[in-house]
Amino acid sequence: MDDAQPVFRFAPSPNGELHLGHAYSALLNHHMAREAGGRFLLRMEDIDRARCSLENERRIEADLHWLGVEWDEPPRRQSIHFADYAAALDALIAEGLVYPAFMSRGAVRAFAEHYAEREGRSWPRDPDGALLYPGEERGLGEVERAERIAEGEAFAWRLDMASALARLGRLDWLETGAGPEGETGRVAAEPSRWGDVILARKEIPTSYHLAVVVDDALQGVTHVVRGRDLFHSTSVHRVIQALLGLPAPVYHHHDLILGDDGRKLSKSAGDVSLKALREAGLTAADIRRMVGF
Ligand code: GLU
Repeated sequence: MDDAQPVFRFAPSPNGELHLGHAYSALLNHHMAREAGGRFLLRMEDIDRARCSLENERRIEADLHWLGVEWDEPPRRQSIHFADYAAALDALIAEGLVYPAFMSRGAVRAFAEHYAEREGRSWPRDPDGALLYPGEERGLGEVERAERIAEGEAFAWRLDMASALARLGRLDWLETGAGPEGETGRVAAEPSRWGDVILARKEIPTSYHLAVVVDDALQGVTHVVRGRDLFHSTSVHRVIQALLGLPAPVYHHHDLILGDDGRKLSKSAGDVSLKALREAGLTAADIRRMVGF
């Protein structure tokens, strides 16, 4: 591999059909890679074993071939690389930057409700709209942690964000697309808005945030081109990169293709999948035109 050659990737989760939004993302990635004389990779983000399937992967590949999007090496499948993510997690645990947290989503909700009743204002949410994890278990003793894990209690590995940021100072990234508020150029990361994010769970030794960062580095990705819905996640990705000593790619967050109701397309039934459009008689050229290519 030529070190100076740019590397782009399209990284769908094979948990459903590709829709127009994915088509746009894949075509834009592919186009930017070819314009830059770079390589274009496909990655299957299939860590959620309950929702992802090989059948979906085959369909995604067929949809991409149909669109004329070709990738330069066999796709990386995250589910066969759990050891890579576990190694990164272990490094962070060894540094004391990650801790086991036992509060379930329901417990966080109950905490937030009590807070709202007591304080008369709502408990803060992260940029995705989820209630922030309160962080109280950061101070649990080693013995209690070990006991609860030994007893089989469910837990998640959370990043101690305050400690991480104290170590790293200010972080930023180069944005060649735009964020929701038009942020572009050198953008300051705001990871504290996410609180102590989950990096892995008891049953799944990684999370989206950890796996995407490890893979982008392992695959030598230099340009991350993805939907604007992931703009704020980049703040978390920069923290993980900095902690693990990994390079920061250039980021390009693109427009989202919205449904007729103005909402983001999802993989759930009802949104127009490429398969449905194809079966309705549209050609790949029609799809390319529909998303602006
Ligand atoms: N797997 C993610 C998704 O399908 C995309 C991850 C990324 O591009 O960083 O939404």
